[in-house]
Amino acid sequence: MNYWNPYLETLPREAYDQIELSYFRKMFSFAKEHSALYRDKLKGMEGKEIRSLDDLKKIPLTEKEEMRKYQEIEPFPYGGLLGSDIEKVTTFRQTSGTTGKPIYVPETYESWQWRIEAWCHILYMAGFRPRHRVFLPFGYNVYVAFWEAHFASEKVGCELVPGGALDTKGRIHKILEIRANGMMNTPTYGLHIAEEAKSMGIDPASLGIERMLCAGEPMPSATRKRLEELYQCHVFDHIGGTEPCAWAGMCEAKDGMHIIEPFFLVEILDRETLQKEVEEGEIGVAVVTPLGRRSFPLIRFNTKDLVIKGKNSCSCGRTSKKIKEVVGRTDDLRKVRGVLFSPKTVEEVLRKEFQEVEEFEIVVERRGLMDVITLRAEPNPGITVSSIEQTKARLRESLKIATNLSFNVIMEPPGSLPRYTLKAKRFKDLRDL
Ligand SMILES: [Zn+2]
Repeated sequence: MNYWNPYLETLPREAYDQIELSYFRKMFSFAKEHSALYRDKLKGMEGKEIRSLDDLKKIPLTEKEEMRKYQEIEPFPYGGLLGSDIEKVTTFRQTSGTTGKPIYVPETYESWQWRIEAWCHILYMAGFRPRHRVFLPFGYNVYVAFWEAHFASEKVGCELVPGGALDTKGRIHKILEIRANGMMNTPTYGLHIAEEAKSMGIDPASLGIERMLCAGEPMPSATRKRLEELYQCHVFDHIGGTEPCAWAGMCEAKDGMHIIEPFFLVEILDRETLQKEVEEGEIGVAVVTPLGRRSFPLIRFNTKDLVIKGKNSCSCGRTSKKIKEVVGRTDDLRKVRGVLFSPKTVEEVLRKEFQEVEEFEIVVERRGLMDVITLRAEPNPGITVSSIEQTKARLRESLKIATNLSFNVIMEPPGSLPRYTLKAKRFKDLRDL
């Protein structure tokens, strides 16, 4: 069996559109009736006015900042974002709060099951099956992604091994001890485990991982391929967030990601105006409406994720819309010396051409009237002094070609840059401080 849900994954385009429009109208009316945020936001608009998917554009986007405001009212702690009776809430989750005060997310048993079912599509699409013993190398805490991964693994029939409360060495020993053959992690942590394994004299390929599902950060294809080489395994990507849920995943064709339709209605909008849908191959902002989660209704949520719109067909036979690539967060895109710059481009160059660079950090500062961009690169411990100078020169040249910016390159001693287990913070813009 190739599909988790053969019927839903191979619907004709018109059927997806029809189902999603009908679900959207229901969610619109539900949100207006049950959540204080949407009671105010959608005042004067009626669900029946939405006659086609084009009519969606009349509805304002939902921004995280306004959600924070509505969270402050009663009932504590979800406030005006709650869509159900608070007594029906069975699970508390929250965002990481990297961009401000965290958003608290309520799940009822029903909404949580809906969320897990959507996640099963992602897992199954990436080839996870009952024969996989999946190691999850994190303590889950209040963060949703690992809990989703945990419960979806169970539902798909994998054998899930929770790997919290261990350090990285302990996790490596555990993978070997129980012969795990699947793993779910951030790309950063996947690389870190490999580095740590090597320092213990263990080849990462000998860990026996066959399949890896990554999330949490935009993963350049060079990073995905580097993980595949290190572990000699298949690596897949997916995208989502605490508020909108996980809404797209990579199939075995490894050519972009499928939007999980008809669970989510995803629009990819022009990033300047946030109005018009972009064309295939163009970059846009993903705007997501989860169509079945009632505990926390969201209508046209601005994810601030920049993606390249993909084509609507795939060799795997699934018929859902695709995104070609995740570019990064709109928050991460900066103008440096008048040039639009994405940190992901630097990662792509490093992972592809500079195997000798283990870890890195990008710093932008203003000196006088001038923006200065610096790459702090940390080489492998084995690198010789003479090759350090060569690497520096090559880095300057490759980065200039890829970004059109002249980088100041500093080589740091091995082990000196921070290592990250969850979301990496390798980009620092010090100009606003
Ligand atoms: Zn596919």
